[in-house]
Amino acid sequence: MAEHPKPECDKSSCGSCSSRTTCSGIPEAPPRSETVPEDQKLQHRLGKIRRKIMVMSGKGGVGKSTVATNLAVHLMLADQRVGLLDVDIHGPSIPQMLHLEHARVVGDGEALLPLEYSGLKVMSIGFLLPNADDAVIWRGPMKMTVIRQFLQDVAWGDLDTLVVDLPPGTGDEPLSVCQLATPVDGAVIVTTPQRISTSDVRRSIRFCQKLDIPVLGVVENMSGFVCPKCGEITHIFKSGGGEKMAAEMNVPFFGRVPLDPRIGVASDNGVPFICNQAPAESMETFDRIVSAIQAL
Ligand code: ADP
Repeated sequence: MAEHPKPECDKSSCGSCSSRTTCSGIPEAPPRSETVPEDQKLQHRLGKIRRKIMVMSGKGGVGKSTVATNLAVHLMLADQRVGLLDVDIHGPSIPQMLHLEHARVVGDGEALLPLEYSGLKVMSIGFLLPNADDAVIWRGPMKMTVIRQFLQDVAWGDLDTLVVDLPPGTGDEPLSVCQLATPVDGAVIVTTPQRISTSDVRRSIRFCQKLDIPVLGVVENMSGFVCPKCGEITHIFKSGGGEKMAAEMNVPFFGRVPLDPRIGVASDNGVPFICNQAPAESMETFDRIVSAIQAL
């Protein structure tokens, strides 16, 4: 079993330490009396947030951050007070999607102040990195620490909904969010139609089921290509994979978002596509997600 570093350890000479093969490298948790105020702080902050919603996918590049960003903005346009937390620590893309890539976090002495996009409160590891291209090389415990900080030490204020954009898969970050932001009120699952993506996303659904997090529904993104000239839809990838998988897993299906060059351009320009005459089918899909969240 892994040992904790000795109290006198300053972790500066791990290579020559006699305990290096058994030591966890993680300092022992402080005595309970010191952690209680921290937990109280976390509970106080989360107590002002009515609903916490996770956006998950099995694979990267399927449009999870695009869905999370546009969902947060769509909720805000439905008069909700909304926060958007990007915990994709190794690949934060929310700052760019909201044209906030040059913004940096400041504190007021008590808390970190979230960035704002037309009233939407936003926090991302991207706002803390000296350069947008810097790589974050952290193991699980470090990630949990920063996620705790994002939940506990950010001045979110009173929110109707906090949308949490998770990295793909079911690793440290989703688990940390589920443990710290308990109870998470629901998960929105994003997939593309191909079987390779839908089979990965089944794991995300099982993860939620194991942790008792309601799966609100599945979005099938990149479902058919919309020709920018004539509007005709071509099914580059097979269509319907997300819907079929949702039916097999017995979870709701929200609908499709076609592969649309205007969505890619909007993300690159830092403007959520939902703000600018989103295609009807995509709009209907987002309307259904918003209704499901508002019903919670
Ligand atoms: P993930 O968060 O799953 O890694 P992103 O949301 O970052 O994926 O999307 C990856 C890329 O695909 C981005 O450039 C985004 O603009 C683009 N994209 C996502 N969904 C669509 C879509 N429906 N149509 C066109 N481009 C899209």
